[in-house]
Amino acid sequence: MKLTILGCHSATPRTNTNPTSQVLEIKNHMFLIDCGEGTQVELRRNKVKFSRIKHIFISHLHGDHYFGLIGLVSTFRLLTRETELHIYGPKGIKEVITLQLKLSDSWTNFPLIFHELTSKESELIFEDDKVEVYTIPLNHRVYTNGFLFKEKENERKLDIKAVLEANVDKAYYRKLKQGADVVNEDGVLINNASVTKKPIPSKSYAYCSDTVYNEDIIPLIKNATVLYHESTFLDKNENLCERTKHSTARQAAIIAKKANVETLILGHFSTRYNGYDEFKSEAKEEFENVLLAEDGKSFEF
Ligand SMILES: [Zn+2]
Repeated sequence: MKLTILGCHSATPRTNTNPTSQVLEIKNHMFLIDCGEGTQVELRRNKVKFSRIKHIFISHLHGDHYFGLIGLVSTFRLLTRETELHIYGPKGIKEVITLQLKLSDSWTNFPLIFHELTSKESELIFEDDKVEVYTIPLNHRVYTNGFLFKEKENERKLDIKAVLEANVDKAYYRKLKQGADVVNEDGVLINNASVTKKPIPSKSYAYCSDTVYNEDIIPLIKNATVLYHESTFLDKNENLCERTKHSTARQAAIIAKKANVETLILGHFSTRYNGYDEFKSEAKEEFENVLLAEDGKSFEF
């Protein structure tokens, strides 16, 4: 699982900082999460192949999370893309994107498929044989979802020595990896656990931006491998959280601790601050394993 941060700042693009966007590489997928202004430039800078992006997840319709989307869709069109593009986001996203395509008479040649979200409960919005994606309903000034990207349970590993000794035909190896007991060449039932080893633990990534401190998300992100939680403010500006529906670094860390995640990545920093060390130190008072997002930085888990 590899996460590349394209932008991790709130509000406006500036000379050296970008609004929110990131790419998650998981089980051969390249999921684009949010698409602030400048995303396509950052995709190029980070050498992400445009053709690998087939699914885009938009958390909410504040501009710093999706103003780059129409530009990216337009570029895909100019590059004569043919493959489907799926866009998941709040109701209204189809209207705002298609209106711009209509007024510029720039309809795409590739299928543009919108999956509009309205539910206030978590729902499964994408699934294939390896990965599931669920929404994480957040509490922000407009309708907002975070997203939980989850690897499905990996296959068990064959204990080759044991499986050869048990005299099992190769044709049954697949079933063994899937956890089934099988009958060997001598007609004896072979217990799965005696010839296989535990699978590699599956990983998960929870993306939560933007939101006020909200313990309702804890059951949804419990034990996640990595949690990205917005931390717009430091303690000294905590008074702004309720009105703007954002969180402090400390609040993000309390959520990480209560959800028992392995690693917390902080991001969505307010552009009012000049440095980010205090985000880390304030968060670390609540939760040990804290990393700071940084535009152009990749994390592997
Ligand atoms: Zn917002």
